[in-house]
Amino acid sequence: MRYPKLRELKEAIRAIFSSPYTSRFPYEPHEPYERFRGRPYFYEKDCIGCAACAQVCPAKAITFEDHLKGALAKRKLTIHWDICIFCGQCEANCPTSKGIMLSREFDLATTEKREELKQAIEKEFILCECCGSPVLPYDQYAWVVKRIGPLSFSNTSLLLFYLRSAGLALKEKIIPNPEKKFNRAMRIKILCPNCRREAVLKS
Ligand code: SF4
Ligand code: SF4
Repeated sequence: MRYPKLRELKEAIRAIFSSPYTSRFPYEPHEPYERFRGRPYFYEKDCIGCAACAQVCPAKAITFEDHLKGALAKRKLTIHWDICIFCGQCEANCPTSKGIMLSREFDLATTEKREELKQAIEKEFILCECCGSPVLPYDQYAWVVKRIGPLSFSNTSLLLFYLRSAGLALKEKIIPNPEKKFNRAMRIKILCPNCRREAVLKS
């Protein structure tokens, strides 16, 4: 005859007299534990539009599109909650640590369509003052300048951005330059990497 093991017997007796391990959700609200990984949200004030979160998202739940309309260019970042697997990689790799953060929301049941389960934010781009193509989101430029401080003075585009932000330099008009005629004055502008390279080599 096989006797029950004492440890299992103790567990079984304890389980009879203790309250259930599971909660009574949805009949009663459920409070997840502190580090629970639930629905992620963008926080527009702290997001710089770098799209690092989209690059590291293993489920491709974060997408970004760059729209260029005349003198206005914007990056649209979208998080699709119906695809998210709540891994937390976006929050862990966000350079500001606060641009996207996971909440403790776990109840995603809804009658809305899948396409509506998303959050989108937009970030304005800085345009190249030669060819007019998008360089970086404005907030990312500002974040880099603040982060590296005086080291930004070694980069003409960052220096100009800093001076303009401080009201010490005027904003340049974007002059279309399809023939790519570069002179020395072209170097003192905010330029995209292609135009910067050509300006340095040809002027
Ligand atoms: S700042 Fe953070 S949330 Fe914003 S785009 Fe970059 S990684 Fe994503
Ligand atoms: S939690 Fe994971 S799956 Fe969800 S958006 Fe962030 S990186 Fe992508």
